[in-house]
Amino acid sequence: MAWFNRLWQDAVHEFEAVVAAHGEITVGRQVRSRLGRTGVDEVLASLWAIDCLNCGGPLSGGNAALSVDDLGYTASAGLFHEHCRASEWNDSGLVVRSSGGAMLSYHTDCVLIPGRTADGTAAHLPLMVVNPGVESVCIARGDGAGRGAGGRWRVVVDQRFLNAGLRSPADSPAGSPAMTVSGGVATLKGRELSVAFPGHVIDTYGSKLTKTGRDMVRADAGITIAVTHALDPHGFSVDERKTMLSGDRTVMGWIPLTAP
Ligand SMILES: [Zn+2]
Repeated sequence: MAWFNRLWQDAVHEFEAVVAAHGEITVGRQVRSRLGRTGVDEVLASLWAIDCLNCGGPLSGGNAALSVDDLGYTASAGLFHEHCRASEWNDSGLVVRSSGGAMLSYHTDCVLIPGRTADGTAAHLPLMVVNPGVESVCIARGDGAGRGAGGRWRVVVDQRFLNAGLRSPADSPAGSPAMTVSGGVATLKGRELSVAFPGHVIDTYGSKLTKTGRDMVRADAGITIAVTHALDPHGFSVDERKTMLSGDRTVMGWIPLTAP
């Protein structure tokens, strides 16, 4: 009867839902106990219930569930319909239904933020904000910068963005021009600004710009980009913007414009 007891316990776990900040998202006991309360809060504050990572259907009406794929060397937390995948912590080494990939949504927008031009003049500068995964985030133990393998699970930006040359804004002096991203290129084509990272297996991200925005990017010969899990670029508060610019769950850099 061991198999029955196991099934029953799993069923009981899944019925113990919690109400998350971004709508009702079911978090099973296994996920809660591994992430801890603070970890659950941070993960849920970094996810938006847009589309199911399994079927791509809309996650509306409070039917989302949080699952974690823990592969040892990397781990991700993502949102699924409860009927597509009940909340679980999967450390089997097998990813049956990937929390990433084709079904993952990314959101981008271009905003103006206060800063300084290369010659030190105070100005409003264009910033391309990219959330590379609104329904899935990488998580890691430690402080998120590779320091300390122990400690609680935290939301981290995908290592591939760091490999491409993006860095936490906390690592550069306040008010200084953003660090140039060696692995990134920006292209303006029509109204669309796109940013790519050749050789780093990262998506190309695009955003439409106004004429003023395009003129600013051309005049500056590049664009500052923020890759963040701290907000949804399609709608965010002033506090969330401050959180992003402080470097919480965010890396930034300046990407040069290539000839169109
Ligand atoms: Zn689904």
